Amino acid sequence: MNHKLRVGIIGGGIGGAALARALQQQGIDFHLFERAPAFGEVGAGVQMTPNAVKVLKALGLTEPLKQVGFLPEAMVGLNWESGNELFRTPLKSTCPEVYGAEFYHVHRADLHSLLTSDIPAEKVTFNAQCTAVQHSPLSATAFFADGTSFEADLIVGADGIHSAVRSALWGDEKPQFTGHMCWRALVSVAEHPLPFVGPYAAFWMGPSAHVVTYYVKGGKAVNIVAVTETAEWVKESWTEASSTDELLNAYQGWHPDVIQLFERTDPTQTFKWGLFDHDPMAQWSVPHVTLLGDAAHPMLPFLSQGAAMAIEDGYVLAQALAHFGGDVPAALAAYEAERRPRTSQVQLQARERGRTYHLSSPEELRQRDLAFQQEQAKNPNAVGIRAEWIYEYDATRCRERFDETRAHA
Ligand code: FAD
Repeated sequence: MNHKLRVGIIGGGIGGAALARALQQQGIDFHLFERAPAFGEVGAGVQMTPNAVKVLKALGLTEPLKQVGFLPEAMVGLNWESGNELFRTPLKSTCPEVYGAEFYHVHRADLHSLLTSDIPAEKVTFNAQCTAVQHSPLSATAFFADGTSFEADLIVGADGIHSAVRSALWGDEKPQFTGHMCWRALVSVAEHPLPFVGPYAAFWMGPSAHVVTYYVKGGKAVNIVAVTETAEWVKESWTEASSTDELLNAYQGWHPDVIQLFERTDPTQTFKWGLFDHDPMAQWSVPHVTLLGDAAHPMLPFLSQGAAMAIEDGYVLAQALAHFGGDVPAALAAYEAERRPRTSQVQLQARERGRTYHLSSPEELRQRDLAFQQEQAKNPNAVGIRAEWIYEYDATRCRERFDETRAHA
């Protein structure tokens, strides 16, 4: 471990906060720069699948996670119109045994508070909008809109989907609008559970659209993610206002359980955004600058892995820096070797999953639903969305793999 190493983190979202916490755990000095005036209540529900929970536990968050999380009993695939079950994968009773950790639903703001809870105030600068990054053979410097700059052994772009650090390193990428748009909303629950929302992650699948609902805030709210296809371009943003009427209008004819839930959304707190697709990058790092999270691998939300991948990245990067001491380029090579193949695969599989969820011809739907049944008959733990390989991964064992890679180099 090298206590002299200094890391500049650009962006204090989920990935930047996970990295800060992991660096702190390793005794590595860091400073975090966030463009917002404070850490805020941005976002909606996120699924913390077992692969992410293994990391959160390693970061010392086992007990706090229990307080804010909701443990879904199962993941259930449902027909949009009849409500018939297409698959049911047990989660609560099996995930710790099968994958080595629980499967939680949490609100993004709660997750973010957990990750930032122990970061000392003097290690964070708010209102710091990074505009450029430069690197030399020995260090890197981040430049900010107010004219200040910060030099460090490593600058990490954890600045999300529209990353300024990624643009500085690799130029502006042109994401493709996928023709999908997505609503998100949160319904507060006084009476728990709502009679028409089971205590599970529900995947309602219909022609050219799907809806995912699940409890967050320890069961005090239901998170809605509703995806549909559209010819109209919709902005890639988390804060574009929509309305209950617009949501209901897009899902006419859907099962009454879905409609009842949508009717309870707060019209002023219903948001929409366009889903854009990004190809996996061929490289993330130069010797003293790298990327993590959405800055490195923005992905479609169809496998619910954006936040999970950002958390894994942050943890692995801190482990690599600790493992390779002051040798930042070696640490970045190990980090990228561990993370880029996995995140690229998740990006590509999420793209493919969008196609399966939105089939519209009756014959394709029949074949898909039959395949769900056959898989579950073979293996009751088979995840309907085919994510077993994602949940099995254990980032907390990355140091063993660093050693293996070095032994074979
Ligand atoms: P962010 O959390 O977006 O953080 C980036 C931070 O950088 C922000 O705080 C921003 O203010 C700051 N910033 C930006 N630019 C600058 C700058 N120039 N200078 C300084 N600071 C800057 N993920 C899951 O794991 N599970 C789910 O169930 C899930 N569901 C989702 C559902 C939908 C519909 C969508 C769209 C996403 C979903 N995600 C989910 C994805 C997840 O929320 C993101 O992938 C995750 O937040 C990425 O973390 P990040 O740290 O890379 O980026």
